[in-house]
Amino acid sequence: MSLFADAQDLLFPARCLSCEALFGRHRLPLLCPDCAARLVPLTSPLCRCCGTPFVAGEDHLCGNCLAGKPSFDLVRSAYSYQEPLVSLIHQVKFGRRLTPLATLGVLGRNSCACSALSLPDLILPVPLHGRRLRQRGFNQSLLLARACFPKWKDRIAANGLKRIRNTTPQTDLSGRERRKNLNGAFCVDIRGGVAGKKVLVVDDVLTTGSTVLECSKILQKACAARVEVFTLARAL
Ligand SMILES: [Zn+2]
Ligand SMILES: [Zn+2]
Repeated sequence: MSLFADAQDLLFPARCLSCEALFGRHRLPLLCPDCAARLVPLTSPLCRCCGTPFVAGEDHLCGNCLAGKPSFDLVRSAYSYQEPLVSLIHQVKFGRRLTPLATLGVLGRNSCACSALSLPDLILPVPLHGRRLRQRGFNQSLLLARACFPKWKDRIAANGLKRIRNTTPQTDLSGRERRKNLNGAFCVDIRGGVAGKKVLVVDDVLTTGSTVLECSKILQKACAARVEVFTLARAL
């Protein structure tokens, strides 16, 4: 096996998924040392609830979470949404290229964000709406959930969260419009429901947080015991 791997490295040297530079071995993550060094992991100090990063000090609750407990119990994102992560996520979402998933999975699994999560009873990927799902052919949040949580794969409910109406793509809207746009956009559709269960919601990127907030709201309404959110990246 190792001989085969050596031959493969010699004949087809690994290319960095971000800058395409040739570098050493085919070992995950497939990022050259320069690109790997540009990743910005989100680590303490963070808001103990929503995961907003602070410049200094210890973990504590941010002003928003102090003012009123959000509908989720914990949000953690692995990395800041910047290069090289942006291009890797774009390759999957818009280039429909699935090769970066294994790398994204390793990055997610090895992150502090991942180790902060409790063992969930259910993992629910944020759903795409029907039209977009048909265009893209897959839901990147589901693929990311599988890549980041292989040990919990039996707990992933691919269609546990559903879009009940098509919404304007969030990227075209401001923060307030985003919240309004998503009002009532999701429902829980899972046999046995989520009552009394610990649920982990998974999405690729957290931008304003309105999507995960809306998902958490309906899960809380459906009596989930705990709602945690994991996103691979977070726009800062
Ligand atoms: Zn590179
Ligand atoms: Zn907070």
